[in-house]
Amino acid sequence: MENELAAEIVLSAPLPDRSALDPLLPRLAEETLARSLGTRGKGSLLDWSLSSDTVRLTLGSDGGRPHQALLSLARRLGEQLGRERKIGVRSLRVTAYRVTFPVETAPAKPVSLPIPHALTFRDGRAHLELTELSEDALRDNWMDRTVQLVLEKIKRQAYEGKEQYWSLLQAARPREHRGRTDPTEEMLRRNWVRSGPTKGKWFLGPTVAHLYRTMERIARQEVLEPLGFSEVVSPHHDAFETLLKTGHLEGLPGEFYYVAEPKSRDPADWERFTDLVKITRRVPAAELAERVGPPSAVLCYAQCPTIYWWLSGRTIPVDRLPLKIYDRTAISNRYESGGRHGLERLDEFHRIEPVYLGTPEQLAKLREELLARYAHVFDQILELEWRTAWVTPFYMQQSGGVGVEDAQARVKGTIDYEAYLPYRGTREGSEWLEFQNLSIVGDKYTQAFTIRAQKGELWSGCSGIGLERWLTTFLAQKGFEPNDWPEGFRRYVGELPRDVDFL
Ligand code: ATP
Ligand code: ZN
Ligand code: MG
Repeated sequence: MENELAAEIVLSAPLPDRSALDPLLPRLAEETLARSLGTRGKGSLLDWSLSSDTVRLTLGSDGGRPHQALLSLARRLGEQLGRERKIGVRSLRVTAYRVTFPVETAPAKPVSLPIPHALTFRDGRAHLELTELSEDALRDNWMDRTVQLVLEKIKRQAYEGKEQYWSLLQAARPREHRGRTDPTEEMLRRNWVRSGPTKGKWFLGPTVAHLYRTMERIARQEVLEPLGFSEVVSPHHDAFETLLKTGHLEGLPGEFYYVAEPKSRDPADWERFTDLVKITRRVPAAELAERVGPPSAVLCYAQCPTIYWWLSGRTIPVDRLPLKIYDRTAISNRYESGGRHGLERLDEFHRIEPVYLGTPEQLAKLREELLARYAHVFDQILELEWRTAWVTPFYMQQSGGVGVEDAQARVKGTIDYEAYLPYRGTREGSEWLEFQNLSIVGDKYTQAFTIRAQKGELWSGCSGIGLERWLTTFLAQKGFEPNDWPEGFRRYVGELPRDVDFL
């Protein structure tokens, strides 16, 4: 059989002999297997024995897996014996759970798993055995999730080293560029910005702060307000619970900044720490580590997860759809490590994130409206050289969310906006900068957070407006001479503030 599950059921008292469970046990096995497998497959009791208070049994099945049947078998056995003999089920333990399932390709490298197991591949099938599964693990479907993980890891190996899926949507219209230099270098030379004091964080002086706020105003007044988006204010800390639901926690654990809380706020508990600081004028790192707990949240990575949390369990009235909201308060924090580059790739940056929920038709229409408003900004106001590409993030291809080959591939998925940066080299030979994106994710998050429409299907999507990227793109193409800047932008920017001439 495809699947075999061997288990031990320990009763609260011994039974005289096997006849005490015959034909009860075979009948319960047959009924629970039939019920839990339904039309998906067939199962049977392969073997069973009784010694004193311990029932050992093996269930086999083809099609579906037999663990739900085992759980209800144990429950019903307890009920029956309770009624007949005042005996209950004390514990349920899995001794071995073997499943086989087809795999598209054999894995290129060994597939590791973090729980006790044996895994081999033969003739286009994987043979997986889990041992030491607790009753809770069985109930929580660890086996099904482990099978999914094996399939995902094989798929990931096949993708490794391959580029993210990318196909040009709208080509760029070439423009003449005043800008030649790396804008961050130029801003540093002018003392307009300063890097630090912690990794990947930048201090924006008055001029750059003004330019950054101008970009924000343009996004709000030219895109979000005309399309009827309402502002919300979102917290900066994201709960693990939320990121478990979106899949971010499993997708990006190495890109988060984690938040740790003090174990106590009582000065007495901190006295030794405080005294050491006073004497040494250093941070007593080990003392500090003792006094803070393990990470309990992360700093906002993107705003949409917590926006979905806000809507979780809610039903949205039809006349409020499509729901259009945006957050510009929570700051994005990402551990970019080796990829950091000036204001183009920071560890702390500012994004406006519009989030939208509606029927598939409403969102397809809204996307066209957003595309048109964005095009207006980049063509008429900022006068950029930009293009769009259809991309599907790796994690979406993995988690069975949005496949490239999906029938609705061109509705669900992500559009990246990219800009040519002259300082990096030629148009063809240099890497363009992704300065924003726009996604429709189908019902992935509305399902995960149980967000419903009063009537019909509810989809969602979001768009990441990277304000530092808008700014560096603009300066990289247009340069630093305000008289050269496009008319539309000059109107928005107004008078530049007086910066500080350091001595
Ligand atoms: P990248 O591929 O450049 O790392 P991403 O795919 O991680 O970008 P998203 O998570 O899709 O980016 O975020 C949306 C927008 O946020 C991007 O289009 C960009 O404008 C901005 N952004 C992302 N990472 C950074 C960063 N480290 N510094 C500045 N802006 C960023
Ligand atoms: Zn988002
Ligand atoms: Mg990134």
